[in-house]
Amino acid sequence: MTFRQKHLLGISGLHPDEIRTILDLADAHADRNRAGTPHEQVLAGLTQVNMFFENSTRTQASFEIAGKRLGANVMNMAMQASSIKKGETLIDTALTLNAMRPDLLVVRHPHSGAVRLLAEKVNCAVLNAGDGRHEHPTQALLDALTIRREKGRLHRLTIAICGDIAHSRVARSNIHLLGKMGNRIRLIGPPTLIPPGAAEWGVEVFDDMAEGLKGADVVMMLRLQKERMDGAFIPSEREYYHRFGLDAEKLAHAKPDAIVMHPGPMNRGVEIDGTLADDINRSVIQEQVEMGVAVRMAAMELLARNRADAPPEVWA
Ligand code: ASP
Repeated sequence: MTFRQKHLLGISGLHPDEIRTILDLADAHADRNRAGTPHEQVLAGLTQVNMFFENSTRTQASFEIAGKRLGANVMNMAMQASSIKKGETLIDTALTLNAMRPDLLVVRHPHSGAVRLLAEKVNCAVLNAGDGRHEHPTQALLDALTIRREKGRLHRLTIAICGDIAHSRVARSNIHLLGKMGNRIRLIGPPTLIPPGAAEWGVEVFDDMAEGLKGADVVMMLRLQKERMDGAFIPSEREYYHRFGLDAEKLAHAKPDAIVMHPGPMNRGVEIDGTLADDINRSVIQEQVEMGVAVRMAAMELLARNRADAPPEVWA
């Protein structure tokens, strides 16, 4: 087993072997989840705190189910309604929480880098559940597991990531992960939604769906992240759907067995056609949600193991 991290803050710091270790363990958890076989309670006696400074339904529920399946005591803190509203700094919140001695801290924050800052101030293992437009490591891992199970491998695939790349932490984490594992990555979107310098990331950039999707094995759609836009990036949603929304006609440019992915939540009729999203022969969106629980179980189990194995001074 190779996984030496204290925290899971992003994909960028992971070695390909560490990624494989998480995916292998998650794969076994996914099979057990599907069969309804009980899990070894490897997180029994541990306290997991979910701290979400930004709204979330699926990610928070997924981390909660994952922790409970492995026996952890899980607590959800609604940070939106908490002391930050009263002016407490992130560091003070972290120190207060640290004094309660949690073992695993799952954090989502609207600012890039906030989760790393918090991790530096606490003695428990921290998992990044999405920070600003920076990283969302468990999303990329669950996407990778879904692809590996569907395609039978996670290398030498052509993967198109489409839409609002500029505001997407999902895109960033996926570009790191899929690049490290040796895939060909294409970014497709209007130039206003492709970050400057993207061409230097080892990816190909397109502003035309037909061209970019040619021969793709995987088509990953992204949500138009209106909450992170501080200006008009597209002429109109109708225009955007016409040029960049995925429908059966555009998908026909990809390989005949290409799979369709979306991290959710979806804007049906904006970045993806609703019928296509529900087409179980092409769309693996529900499998992504399913793999999310398995990946989070694996990540928390590996971090808890590393914590138990490390000498106490490492965590002091
Ligand atoms: N749920 C994902 C995230 O938290 C994707 C999205 O919100 O569009 O980044």
